Amino acid sequence: MAGLTPMMRQYMEIKEEYKDAFLFFRLGDFYEMFFDDALKAAQLLEITLTSREGGQAGRIPMCGVPFHSASSYIETLVRKGYKVAICEQTEDPALAKGIVKREVIQLITPGTLTEGRSVGEKSNVFIGSAGRTEAGEYALVRIDLSTGEGVATLAGHDEKSLISEAESLKIREIVVPDELYLSLHDLARSRNILLSVEEEESFPDGGGELAGQCPPAILPAAARLLRYLERTQKRSLGHIRPIDYRERRAVLSIDPNSRRNLELVQSIRGGGEKGSLYWLLDETVTAMGGRKLRQWIHEPLAGRDAILNRTDTVGEFMEAFFARGEVRDLLKGVYDMERLAGKVAFGNATGRDLAQLRRSLAQAAPIRTALQNSGTTRLAAFAGEIDPCTEALGMLEAAITDEPPISNKEGGVIRSGFNRRLDELRDASRNGKDWIAALEAEERRLTGIKSLKIGYNRVFGYYLEVTKSNVHLVDTGRYERKQTLANAERYITPELKEKEALILNAEEEALILETELFNEVRERVKAHIREIQDLADRLSSLDVLAGFAEVAERYRYVRPEFHDGRSIVIRNGRHPVVEKMLDDGTYVPNDCVLDDSANMLLITGPNMSGKSTYMRQVALTVIMAQIGCYVPADSAELPVTDQIFTRIGAADDLAGGQSTFMVEMMESRHALAHATADSLLLFDEIGRGTSTYDGMALAQAMMEFIHEEIGANTLFSTHYHELTGLSEKLGRLRNVHVSAAEQSGHVIFLHKVKEGPADKSYGIHVAELAGLPETVIRRAEGLLREFESSSAAGGRPDSPESDQLSLFGEVVEGEQEQTGHAKLAEEIKGLDLLRMTPMDAFQWLHELQEKI
Ligand code: ADP
Repeated sequence: MAGLTPMMRQYMEIKEEYKDAFLFFRLGDFYEMFFDDALKAAQLLEITLTSREGGQAGRIPMCGVPFHSASSYIETLVRKGYKVAICEQTEDPALAKGIVKREVIQLITPGTLTEGRSVGEKSNVFIGSAGRTEAGEYALVRIDLSTGEGVATLAGHDEKSLISEAESLKIREIVVPDELYLSLHDLARSRNILLSVEEEESFPDGGGELAGQCPPAILPAAARLLRYLERTQKRSLGHIRPIDYRERRAVLSIDPNSRRNLELVQSIRGGGEKGSLYWLLDETVTAMGGRKLRQWIHEPLAGRDAILNRTDTVGEFMEAFFARGEVRDLLKGVYDMERLAGKVAFGNATGRDLAQLRRSLAQAAPIRTALQNSGTTRLAAFAGEIDPCTEALGMLEAAITDEPPISNKEGGVIRSGFNRRLDELRDASRNGKDWIAALEAEERRLTGIKSLKIGYNRVFGYYLEVTKSNVHLVDTGRYERKQTLANAERYITPELKEKEALILNAEEEALILETELFNEVRERVKAHIREIQDLADRLSSLDVLAGFAEVAERYRYVRPEFHDGRSIVIRNGRHPVVEKMLDDGTYVPNDCVLDDSANMLLITGPNMSGKSTYMRQVALTVIMAQIGCYVPADSAELPVTDQIFTRIGAADDLAGGQSTFMVEMMESRHALAHATADSLLLFDEIGRGTSTYDGMALAQAMMEFIHEEIGANTLFSTHYHELTGLSEKLGRLRNVHVSAAEQSGHVIFLHKVKEGPADKSYGIHVAELAGLPETVIRRAEGLLREFESSSAAGGRPDSPESDQLSLFGEVVEGEQEQTGHAKLAEEIKGLDLLRMTPMDAFQWLHELQEKI
């Protein structure tokens, strides 16, 4: 430090507090970085590395970005997972004694980057905060700094659940207390999530009300998050709304794996939005509606009244066709009020932002009228919830011009008539300008120079311009030459300069006054932020619901009916996304009946017949219904499902570096541990990742467990034909199969789900159709018969022996050994362990060893 120049010492002192961030140090028109920051940033941003004299320390590595284009560089760094501290000059350099004072005015982090190209208008930017409750569960609080909304949930007992939940909410940064940092670090990093430490667990001043209805266990995480935002943003957080605690019972919980498998917001292949449920349902016309729909899909409801509230509204929107069109048209004029409100709170809203807010608020009253006039009950009731913020609107209408410029710098933001003094100043400058315009005509007359004109530039102000050929006509007593051009001379006169001063002074004063007035207006809007946010919330819900009606009408969906039981009865159900993709009416609808007599289906059928599509369509129907949407079927009678679990083959956890089979088992374990009788389970091809006997044994054991212990509605698909025998043993298990047929030598997938198991020799049949040599086909048939008889003798998968056998490994060769093992198993079973002494046991083992 000692050898550094004073400015570099200042830099080092500030940098000391922001070690984990790139320090953007304001120097004139640039933000400069030094030392390691410079070396790293030059690489990451692909900008030139230079150096600067640093005193005795010699030359210091440096690189910089221009102030006016800094935001895209900041965004690049933050997107890559870094933090950027913006350090500004906080006093006027002209007035400074010695080094200009500098301070960090904002720390931009992955969770707080709310503007820029990468911020999708229809998606939220959440920053998360995690804490551990006394019960050992993780709490996850999230806030979108741009819109001010906050949500708290419980996110499971293990690190993986927490991080997966954060990942599926696209949270890029999680605030944690020191004690959680290490245990979460590696996992978070593998998912590209930054951990930031905040220890302070008390709410900032006035922040207590933001705790909303959160239970005490959530509070530390909420407080830490608010503290962190206060510390990094250093600006008003007045737009942050009370944190909404989502009780687990209130939402249909879908674990992150299942969300991915079911392609709720992005498709598995390609990872884009196209092909997802969101893509199908998004008929919203506002950015806020898009974000709301995403949230609804993320957390469908699990309370019947809450669901019906939405479904009924959708229903009325379907009937009230005219009102729907009107409301949607009006909504198109609504800008992103939530983010505009955020900008107002931050104090960086421009005149144009306020004009957009005004336009948005102005839509509220006509929307309310359209709803009231719809002649329906729900929509009329909805109208009652819309408060058009008349006061804020009135003020904006009075204060802000029709089309304010992008920047506030040139004025023209405040409407005339709003402030007397401003009007006077504007008049003064306008009159001055009129006077000057009149002067032009007057001077032309006096000098007789027709081409004489008056111009203005920043350096010389107003001037009279005369072309070279007319210079001899100029009255040099009155005109003073100011500037010579190639073919003209420019002059000034004392009266011209006098008027000029008047105009410029008036303009300058007007600009200062306008800025003051604008800030005042902004502050007054700020006082209405809560109302504006409430209105935004209502309008975005309306947008989603009207969009649902649009989708339902277009694709002929029906209203789902909920009952108090557990049965699912869907008639002619369809997979909404596959149906839309096919787009030609060839989708084959299927029934799904899960009731008290059979609430587990074992689905067999050849590959590509549609097993997986069938299972997914049932899950999507349940989800759509609980979002409040209509469903793709002729009719659907549904229970309120509490949780959905899926084990579906396609999405292997490659990023986590775990084997496919391990992932399969972990997902299964998760489902078996948490499912209740009100849950829906989907198991697609369980056990495929291991050898046949292992796989079959596991599949059977799981089915038995679900049947006996859980009782959840379950769809199971398998290619182990042997498992179809299980229905004899498990009373509530029913076999169905997806049919296929042969037509002039080709396999035709009928995609039709029918009663009973699939034809077992189907594979061989397909091979025959494919033209495999006759001898191979005959041999395969022979082998199949052999396998069948051996499995009948050695233990069908549903017989107790087969479970025992698997204890001795999976390599079973021939019947003789199988019977040997079976005998041994019987013998072990027969041992009376309670009466045996250790010596007896030893003796028995010894004998056994001798035999082998
Ligand atoms: P499986 O799980 O049996 O291997 P999939 O469910 O993956 O088969 O379906 C294979 C393909 O068949 C799907 O990609 C889809 O295009 C088509 N398909 C499935 N079900 C239907 C259906 N009911 N109607 C029309 N096409 C279907």
